[in-house]
Amino acid sequence: MKFAAADIHFMRTAMELAERGKFTAAPNPLVGCVIVNNDEQIIGQGWHKTYGGPHAEVEAFESIAADHTALLHESTWYITLEPCNHVGKTPACAALIEHIKPKRVVIGIRDFNPEVAGRGLERLRQAGIQVDCGCLANELAWQNRRFCWNTQKNRPWVVLKWATSIDGFMDGRPSEHRLPGSGGFPITSEAAKPLTHTWRALEKGIAVGAGTVTVDEPQLNVRSLKAPSPRVVLLDPECIIRPNHPLLLRDPNAIHVVGTISSNSDPNCCAWQVNEGLDKLLEQLFTNYGLSSLLVEGGAMVLNDFLEQGAWNEIKRWTSPLPTKGGLSAPLLPSDTISLPYGHKSSGQIGMDSWINRLHPRHVFD
Ligand SMILES: [Zn+2]
Repeated sequence: MKFAAADIHFMRTAMELAERGKFTAAPNPLVGCVIVNNDEQIIGQGWHKTYGGPHAEVEAFESIAADHTALLHESTWYITLEPCNHVGKTPACAALIEHIKPKRVVIGIRDFNPEVAGRGLERLRQAGIQVDCGCLANELAWQNRRFCWNTQKNRPWVVLKWATSIDGFMDGRPSEHRLPGSGGFPITSEAAKPLTHTWRALEKGIAVGAGTVTVDEPQLNVRSLKAPSPRVVLLDPECIIRPNHPLLLRDPNAIHVVGTISSNSDPNCCAWQVNEGLDKLLEQLFTNYGLSSLLVEGGAMVLNDFLEQGAWNEIKRWTSPLPTKGGLSAPLLPSDTISLPYGHKSSGQIGMDSWINRLHPRHVFD
């Protein structure tokens, strides 16, 4: 159906509100809601702030001033995602809207979960409310790409991240100098860090290989950014990291992926062998640990494994203009990556370093 300019305007406002949950809503979807009166004035708005917290529709309803509640039966609700029709951690939003019975509800996208898709929408229609679905649908599906991928594939949305020198190295030291505990070899300048930390905060997990942990001893957090740090996933199928390693002591919540598990292993130990393939690991990280997205930060071998197995959705890569003239080769960017859709920036520069953000060539919904 074709939507009026006013519909698109209010849905865009709801989409912008939804985006505010980007660091805290996952593994729940990003949802925004705008309630408009008969004169096309916004009388209520809300978004889904935190996992398990009130849904956007409830937030919007509760934001309405007391003298506006009489207008609710004439209102139009703009909701970026189909209202839920099941009682989970909170009551069903479709029940709330059915009770209020507004004149019209405009929905961005249906819930991707096949078990709920269409049911919230149907409930509202049966209550006699006009329901129009599909306003800004493609852009909203992109905004909720992680949730969409999760519900269809039962695995996390995977983002690969690395930094390379202009001559193609991610660590400028010769191998004999990459000794345990020798620390990281920064490729990018300090100015690049805030964006790197934002990239971390956007994902629920951060994966790093045992070799990188041994040499670089990375922090893997979001530093001063006001957002939760992702949960560390230490990829150690050869079991070379001891349980008393500083990273595991510092972060008892870290998931330690090991080849074999003894009967008295920590519940955060996840059994996985390299020959089982990354799909198997990703399935476990989603199903058993609730990781709806994963940022893979290295090292080179780990990143190359993800690239070779096609087990990724996005790539974020820094490039420094300075050569290192040797060292550890950085992964090669696949030749068939595509730009981000809907005007989202796929490249930029901060200080002297430049970054790109590319997407896997398969469609988000494939
Ligand atoms: Zn809901």
